[in-house]
Amino acid sequence: MTIAVYPGSFDPIHYGHIDIAKRAAKIFDTLIWAAYDRPLKNLMFTTDERLELMRQAAQDMPNIRVMPYHGLTVEFARSLGATVMVRGIRVTYDFEIEYQTALTNRQLADDIDTVCLMTSLKYAFLSSSTLKEVAFLGGPIGEMVPPFVQAAVRKRMAQLGEDRDDKVKLVSLRE
Ligand code: ADP
Repeated sequence: MTIAVYPGSFDPIHYGHIDIAKRAAKIFDTLIWAAYDRPLKNLMFTTDERLELMRQAAQDMPNIRVMPYHGLTVEFARSLGATVMVRGIRVTYDFEIEYQTALTNRQLADDIDTVCLMTSLKYAFLSSSTLKEVAFLGGPIGEMVPPFVQAAVRKRMAQLGEDRDDKVKLVSLRE
């Protein structure tokens, strides 16, 4: 029985993440879809909020378990008996990052391998940063996320108010 971990920030999840999670869940016996609880990033959602959205997205996939984690991803994977880490690749830039991360993780844990799934073409340019920026600027995100994520993003933006740019830093599409 092969257990795989799909780790990330997922702030918030979008259709690209969901696509990778569902495809990975067809390949492996159990998929642990894991949200890193303290990434070095300015987050829009708390860990519990990110997990709740992931749970809703995975509810029709019984072999997906949604969990938080902190610390080294390989240690978390090992603690669950996982032997595979799943990552998604969109553009060549992702490959560089994932390649470096996979080699580092193998150095740390040579009993765990990284498996990268290529994005589906329609999600190739979709990222959490992109969807947050479009939403911040008042654009439509219905093609990027399921309705329950869209509702959570809108609610969060209303809570943040007008000066939200200072509260959640974005990697701007304009930069
Ligand atoms: P991280 O901060 O770990 O990169 P993300 O939540 O941004 O966390 O992404 C988690 C994983 O999902 C990464 O492997 C990333 O490359 C992948 N991913 C992100 N967006 C997409 C997408 N549109 N299609 C496929 N994979 C994606």
